[in-house]
Amino acid sequence: MRTFEELGVAPQIMRAITELGYEQPMPVQEEVIPQLLGNTRDIIALAQTGTGKTAAFGIPVIQKTNTSLLAPQTLVLCPTRELCLQIAGDLTEYSEYVEDIKILPVYGGSSIDSQIRALKRGVHIIVATPGRLIDLINRKTVSLENVHTVVLDEADEMLNMGFTESIDEILGHVPESRSMLLFSATMPQGIAKITRKYMNNPMEITIGRKNEGAQNVRHIYFVVHAKDKYLALKRIADYYPNVYGIIFCRTRKETQEIADKLIQDGYDADSLHGDLSQAQRDYVMNKFRNRNLQLLVATDVAARGLDVDDVTHVINYGLPDDFEIYTHRSGRTGRAGKTGTSIAIIHTKEKGKVAQIEKLINKKFEKRPIPKGDIICEKQLFNFVDKIEKVKVNEAEIERLLPSIYRKLDWLEKEDIIKRVVSLEFNRLIDYYQAAEEIEEPQERSSKNEERGGRGKKFDRNESGPRNAEKGYARFFINLGKMDGANPANLMGFINDHVPGKIRVGRIDLMKNFSFFEVPEEKAGQILKSFKGVYVEDRKLVVELADSNTSDKKKYKDDKPAKKEFKKSRKTKKRL
Ligand code: AMP
Repeated sequence: MRTFEELGVAPQIMRAITELGYEQPMPVQEEVIPQLLGNTRDIIALAQTGTGKTAAFGIPVIQKTNTSLLAPQTLVLCPTRELCLQIAGDLTEYSEYVEDIKILPVYGGSSIDSQIRALKRGVHIIVATPGRLIDLINRKTVSLENVHTVVLDEADEMLNMGFTESIDEILGHVPESRSMLLFSATMPQGIAKITRKYMNNPMEITIGRKNEGAQNVRHIYFVVHAKDKYLALKRIADYYPNVYGIIFCRTRKETQEIADKLIQDGYDADSLHGDLSQAQRDYVMNKFRNRNLQLLVATDVAARGLDVDDVTHVINYGLPDDFEIYTHRSGRTGRAGKTGTSIAIIHTKEKGKVAQIEKLINKKFEKRPIPKGDIICEKQLFNFVDKIEKVKVNEAEIERLLPSIYRKLDWLEKEDIIKRVVSLEFNRLIDYYQAAEEIEEPQERSSKNEERGGRGKKFDRNESGPRNAEKGYARFFINLGKMDGANPANLMGFINDHVPGKIRVGRIDLMKNFSFFEVPEEKAGQILKSFKGVYVEDRKLVVELADSNTSDKKKYKDDKPAKKEFKKSRKTKKRL
């Protein structure tokens, strides 16, 4: 392994990183630093957070900065404000002894005026979120004509967040001769497109094996009935008394609900999701960073900006549909040489996902039974006893009180005192678990029933729905489901809002991501026509015939596109 000096890192930067405690380059740094210092090749690096990628690009771009030219020379694009601040902070630390270098974070959600003023004073390195940068480019307050290096950090996340067009636009303002570095934890299709379009024979670097989860993370899963999911979560939290963890939920709503319940049940928990204001999110993140919060309940997007090295557990409250997300989640623990555990609480129908994720991360999950009440109490008890052993006693403070305390407890034996102290702490927990019913593990047979949704046949969008329409009715598929907040009432309202006249909506079957509804046959053509070209926010609505009785789709087809193209407002989204 080479040293930083051998990679060509300049003395002023050496001084700063040595002070930060960096002794040896991390693998991504060993690969990227000499490349970026030496020539201008484009680089794609498949690297997860925590691999040291910020220093890998940060050190060389600082070193290559010509401080006598007061113009942006390096542009770092990243998906979130938090990451933007973090990168800018890291670069500022690495450049502590580089005179006159100016690094500016530029991100949405904060005063644009102060960013404009800073840009006018002159900067060398801009770290930006795409939206705000475009705003500044449009106001002509920033010129990118001297940029020689562009870094796209967490490129996959930027694509996920819909920044593709913004990135296109920004890159249009940067000289073609620039070199480009792309960091991504995963390599979805969109990234391949970007690399083809903007990169010239890029060098590919993979840090760790492709898509492999962190080495020192154990993966555990618990299978429960859907109704027991929250109770299982509580037991798991109780089973790990010193947990310092992130609980990932799928939606903002679920995140808030779970956090609320945990708080109500006396856990040290709080929520982090996009419905909170920036100030609220900052507050929660700081609380978690400072370890003043044990359990952070978060959505994937909101947790992205959080960089905490010593998370002990990641809890997946259900598994994500996109397995790359699982890799991201589990990569939040087991960092910086520590070990970590990634837990998934799933229902039987998610078991298939476990196998698929195992393939992706090349690691096995351990299946565990939900901890029984007595075992949890025992674990908590020993943890408490351990704490008693290790507690730091402030002799000076309590010394004067001790004689009277001794006098008061004089009549008790040592064993009695121990029992009382322990009871004081544990009666509540023991009572709870004595009264609580054990969580029943789903049986294989019942799992099949559950998979079938109790309706005899699994709903599958590709099978055009499980059932035929009621007589006289046509059955439709719609790509809105419970996850979008759909319920029978608002779905009926939604249909009637879009179709002229009053439509009698028959049977409705709500699925997670999509639904089926039935309307009288004579209205089928109208439905097809009215939903053409409708968008809910940025999502194109798909409404299609969905049953074998009505497979003669021509019968209802209306080839004329609807005249009116609805661009649905947020109101619609909210209602659904
Ligand atoms: P990153 O992947 O850039 O978020 O970095 C992960 C963590 O590793 C950060 O806390 C860095 O400060 C730290 N780090 C980066 N490079 C080194 C190094 N060579 N030696 C020790 N720690 C490092």
